[in-house]
Amino acid sequence: MNTQIVLASRPIGEPTLNDFRTVSTAIPKPAAGEVLLATKFLSLDPYMRGRMSATKSYAEPVALGGVMVGQTVSEVLESADPTYRTGEIVLSANGWQTHAVAPGKTLRKLDAEIAPVSYALGILGTPGKTAYCALLDIGRPKPGETVVVSAASGAVGSVAGQIAKIKGCRVVGIAGSDEKCTYVTDVLGFDQCINRRKADLPKALAQVCPNGIDVYFDNTAGTILTAVLGLINVGARIPLVGLIEHYNATALPAGPYLGPLLTNRAKIEGFLVSDHSAHSAAFARDVAGWMRDGKLHYKEDVLDGLDKAPQGLIGMLRGENFGKLIVRVS
Ligand code: NAP
Repeated sequence: MNTQIVLASRPIGEPTLNDFRTVSTAIPKPAAGEVLLATKFLSLDPYMRGRMSATKSYAEPVALGGVMVGQTVSEVLESADPTYRTGEIVLSANGWQTHAVAPGKTLRKLDAEIAPVSYALGILGTPGKTAYCALLDIGRPKPGETVVVSAASGAVGSVAGQIAKIKGCRVVGIAGSDEKCTYVTDVLGFDQCINRRKADLPKALAQVCPNGIDVYFDNTAGTILTAVLGLINVGARIPLVGLIEHYNATALPAGPYLGPLLTNRAKIEGFLVSDHSAHSAAFARDVAGWMRDGKLHYKEDVLDGLDKAPQGLIGMLRGENFGKLIVRVS
């Protein structure tokens, strides 16, 4: 029989065991081009919490009564695809079940000679690729820079921090226990690690990042991101990779919720007009021209007398001005 774990109910807040149900079904038969697989390893990943919820997301939720999704390393039991032979080990996405049929073209063969096959679910799979791509494409670490990584002992964070070390950076991890922190420094080779459950995070980060933070590899968002933002340097880069602090939340956080930023790969970038003097001539030419052609409208809100300046500023911060506020002094 095929043992499956299905979604029994949609959790509110932290999932409980009652949200899952184990069922038994017949082992399916592969049709032409398909392969019958027995699951050897199943990956458990934070994104699965999102799939348990019906909230609109970048991916379809698991249906109530549906098999929980997940990547698997599986063994070919029977093949109706000439590319695969019985006994071969493949990467698939069979979810939380002992057996499944999958189209041969969705599978990738794994070679136990290269690495333990289970690594395809971690460092040589999606978590490792996430760490590599987000750090190098968005973090763009340079030798000597300070890189901070949250969930530092985990599947993604452990790889991101080690690659930052390979790139010559000073790397600070944040993890959830002393045991994890010792592993992060002594085995993974990070320079420092802060236990997020014990430390006053803004203070501890300031102590171990005396030159500020150039790259923050964000696996959590929330309170850790807030603490890091107080220390970022000019031109810092923050790959927003995960929001695990919010995954069990039942309400939006008090501050901005960055979920749509991640799912839409959108960008918020700080701006200071003083950095853009190279565009001064183009600005003057274009704006004056658009005004002359009647394409740009402009409104002034004029107060008469310097004595109106204090109340004018106070009023502007309440939204009482209508247009560009200026004072006619004389
Ligand atoms: P992981 O780090 O192996 O496990 C999750 C870890 O998150 C926990 O061990 C815990 O570590 C930390 N954590 C849990 N709840 C937290 C909270 N409330 N506040 C702060 N930290 C908390 O998992 P992973 O697979 O490597 O994933 C890490 C992050 O990457 C997740 O946010 C995941 O969604 C994201 N991810 C994103 C993509 C993408 O394409 N954007 C792809 C893969 C993964 P500590 O207790 O040690 O802090």
